[in-house]
Amino acid sequence: MADPYGFLKHSRSEPKKRPAAERLSDWNEVYLDVPAEQRDEEVRVQATRCMDCGVPFCHSGSAGCPLGNLIPEWNDLVRRGDWESASDRLHATNNFPEFTGRLCPAPCEAACVLSISHDAGGPVAIKRVEQAIADVSWEQGLVPPVQSHVSSGKKVAVVGSGPAGLAAAQQLTRAGHEVTVFERDDRLGGLLRYGIPEFKMEKKVLDRRLAQLRKEGTRFVTGCEVGVDLTVEELRSKFDAVVLAVGALRGRDDTTTPGRSLKGVHLAMEHLVPANRACEGDGPPAIDAAGKHVVIIGGGDTGADCYGTASRQGAASVLQLDQYPMPPSTRDNDRSPWPVWPWILRTYPAHEEAGERKFAVAVEKFVGDEDGHVRQIQLRKVRVEKDASGRRQVVPTSEEVEVLPADLVLLAIGFEGVEHMPLLDGLGLRLTPRGTISCGSDWQTQSPGVFVCGDAHRGASLVVWAIAEGRSVANAVDRFLTGSSDLPSPVIPT
Ligand code: SF4
Repeated sequence: MADPYGFLKHSRSEPKKRPAAERLSDWNEVYLDVPAEQRDEEVRVQATRCMDCGVPFCHSGSAGCPLGNLIPEWNDLVRRGDWESASDRLHATNNFPEFTGRLCPAPCEAACVLSISHDAGGPVAIKRVEQAIADVSWEQGLVPPVQSHVSSGKKVAVVGSGPAGLAAAQQLTRAGHEVTVFERDDRLGGLLRYGIPEFKMEKKVLDRRLAQLRKEGTRFVTGCEVGVDLTVEELRSKFDAVVLAVGALRGRDDTTTPGRSLKGVHLAMEHLVPANRACEGDGPPAIDAAGKHVVIIGGGDTGADCYGTASRQGAASVLQLDQYPMPPSTRDNDRSPWPVWPWILRTYPAHEEAGERKFAVAVEKFVGDEDGHVRQIQLRKVRVEKDASGRRQVVPTSEEVEVLPADLVLLAIGFEGVEHMPLLDGLGLRLTPRGTISCGSDWQTQSPGVFVCGDAHRGASLVVWAIAEGRSVANAVDRFLTGSSDLPSPVIPT
């Protein structure tokens, strides 16, 4: 039984990072690779802080884990040193805990009861425990391929190999369906491959899991754009069901700031994709921050990915801009009371390495040279408010204009939904006003037998939501094909 006083005996501790200078000299993961024995003991102590609450807010609900991860159960198993059972309980709800353990911002920790008060010393380090269980599972061979002993005789096409598509594919393959994943890129993984930088998750972590899926029987076809290389007619005639997991990669652009069309002003993904390709050995990136003054517009995850990438490429300077004021560094219970997601300053490891952040500012103009290349930005202090109709307005708060050098500007201001693709036209699917693909309560689109999940349905979101939706759509497809399903369905379509 968990120790209800464990959090009073042990402080929360974070995993140690490699020195910043060393991190900037390579693309490897940020965290120090400590000996397994030391890691296991440190994590066991962290798991001991869990009280095994009667109502574990970390586990599910509007504020906790979208996957319904059995957090108190595996915390207790780790506390007792039973890593094999912990692995079993973790994989019961999460296909890819090694991804979420590295990439998820951990809404479970924001929802942990120990987040209520600073006196409690901070939430249980759930994400750290999760990653350790996942890593131990691979080290000790606790996650062998799971081969299905039944065959439904049904064929399923999954379009897109990001986390939602892979989760759906694994669940459906294990349920006995013949699953083929189509990926238009040359390599598998979607955003996990070409969006997430190596320093957040090394690609060998992804490749290891892909090898498991292959051994289980999932088939993969790369370099195939469904709707073009495989026509919609072929798709429909060859497969009994189709899962669209095509992501929401249409980047939001800045169409109003003067100078946007200057050379050197790019969407964030135009920087991240070639940088990740370079790490895969595809040659120098088309957009390289080396020696440049880099300005990143947008204060979110994607902006932080550009930040760390530009620093590693050898930028002369890196500056990240956010229109919103700097949030408090700890939970402000008046503004975002527990257990809702806290409105706090998110500092990523990349921010500790180099560069600078500015808050409550907006670019008024991109200034170019005689060759039409951006060289400066003009900045103004601003506040964000809503007008009478509820629309967001950015209002200058100062007459003063700050001029800063900028040779490379990266727009990391969000995503507007699914990219335009012939497949959607061929299937007769229309996008919602949010740019996503709508579906019914059974995850089925307007096109019978065609399902949608992940960012393509939800809009750009967290890897944990993608996996949760992939698992849920697998349940719906299994039900569609066989009339019933034992597969879990952690979320319902919004
Ligand atoms: Fe443990 Fe926190 Fe979950 Fe309670 S809310 S069971 S203390 S992780």
